[in-house]
Amino acid sequence: MKITIVGGGFGGAKTALELSKSKHNRITLISDRPDFQYYPALYGTATGKSHLQSWVPLGVIFADKPNVDVVIDSITEVEPKSKRLIAASGNTYEYEHLVLALGAVTTYFGIEGLDHYAYGIKSEAEIKKLKHHLYMELKERRHSDKHYVIIGGGPTGVELASALGSYIKRLRRHYKLPERQVTINLIEASPRLLPRMHEKSSAKVKKRLEKLGVHVELGKKVESATAEGLTVSGRPLKTHTIIWTSGVANNPFFKANEAHFEFAPNGKVLVNEYLRTKDGIYIIGDNAATPFSGLAQTALHDALFVSRNFDHRQANKPLKKYKAVMPPVVVPVGEDWSVFEWRGLRLSGWPAGLLRHAADLVGYSDVLPIGRALGVWRARREHEADYFTPTPPAK
Ligand SMILES: Cc1cc2nc3c(=O)[nH]c(=O)nc-3n(C[C@H](O)[C@H](O)[C@H](O)COP(=O)(O)OP(=O)(O)OC[C@H]3O[C@@H](n4cnc5c(N)ncnc54)[C@H](O)[C@@H]3O)c2cc1C
Repeated sequence: MKITIVGGGFGGAKTALELSKSKHNRITLISDRPDFQYYPALYGTATGKSHLQSWVPLGVIFADKPNVDVVIDSITEVEPKSKRLIAASGNTYEYEHLVLALGAVTTYFGIEGLDHYAYGIKSEAEIKKLKHHLYMELKERRHSDKHYVIIGGGPTGVELASALGSYIKRLRRHYKLPERQVTINLIEASPRLLPRMHEKSSAKVKKRLEKLGVHVELGKKVESATAEGLTVSGRPLKTHTIIWTSGVANNPFFKANEAHFEFAPNGKVLVNEYLRTKDGIYIIGDNAATPFSGLAQTALHDALFVSRNFDHRQANKPLKKYKAVMPPVVVPVGEDWSVFEWRGLRLSGWPAGLLRHAADLVGYSDVLPIGRALGVWRARREHEADYFTPTPPAK
């Protein structure tokens, strides 16, 4: 079978790897970036840890897969009738079977100034921009904010808040800046952190962050941002470092091609029990309106599901119906301390920290052979070689 997959993230890369196991399949993987991003590690790279843990070249992942062609291009249109994809480069790609796994994008919910003044940590370019800003503030201008503000008390905001304080301290010490009280403010609009987890886990995480020196502000709404700071629930907060970790929306590709898709109220694409649209296109991962969409484990689960059904088609066996599976959630809060939840089970502290380390190893080995996965996994502990040197400004 000839299968075209768009998106080289958790869903797309895993689908290609699974399908590559059959020599009857010929796979084209089209992605707009040359690497696979391991999102759960991005906060670590943003706070001085090795970039090796965060992105792995697609060429490495598919090096020994002769039936997978990796194409770097950005798809802008789909024409299901003629079974064609159109790309930003002007190229067109014909397909027989199509899997879309384009992931989510950041949204600022229309909050004035955030798109201009907030930093992000969702990509290599965003991380470089943030690190360059910190370098310019601390090394070149010899100035540091009293408040470093992270917006969003979901997993990414919590993880980043737990690591940013010690990173700033290390930078200040290295640049020989005088001792100064620096506060990491974590602002969340809902009444508790990690609103998708149990209340008890939220309370433990808040206590742990406060122990690490993070100032947690709950039930506070960010109203606007300027070069000098934020307005939070009517109160001004002076800062030059605003990091936005909240707000994800479905990939705009789908709205741009809305004639071919139907949407759930949250903007994700409606799919049938085989994760297909009315035109027979497979939609997986963050793009699909499934119960646990928005998690890496779900994208991997979807990838296994669709590839097994391709095997069934090939063997003329009846297709399986999709069953959503609730994945475990584990959020690190500082080195070796995490909260973990799965079904009725809740853990916190170092036992959950061990589970997080194990989950990362499993995560890397989902896309890499075990030897390479171990190498990348070990890199999580290493500091970036350019830890104290400027990163080039993001393009
Ligand atoms: C900072 C951060 C931390 C996270 N931490 C966790 C965590 O700890 N645990 C967890 O379970 N989940 C976590 N997630 C969520 C998880 O990463 C996603 O659910 C998962 O990546 C979804 O997989 P996907 O394949 O749907 O999309 P992605 O992995 O985002 O892959 C989408 C791919 O499509 C490519 N693409 C996009 N548009 C186009 C286009 N037009 N043409 C071609 N290619 C395109 C992208 O470049 C990307 O390679 C985190 C997310 C973020 C942002």
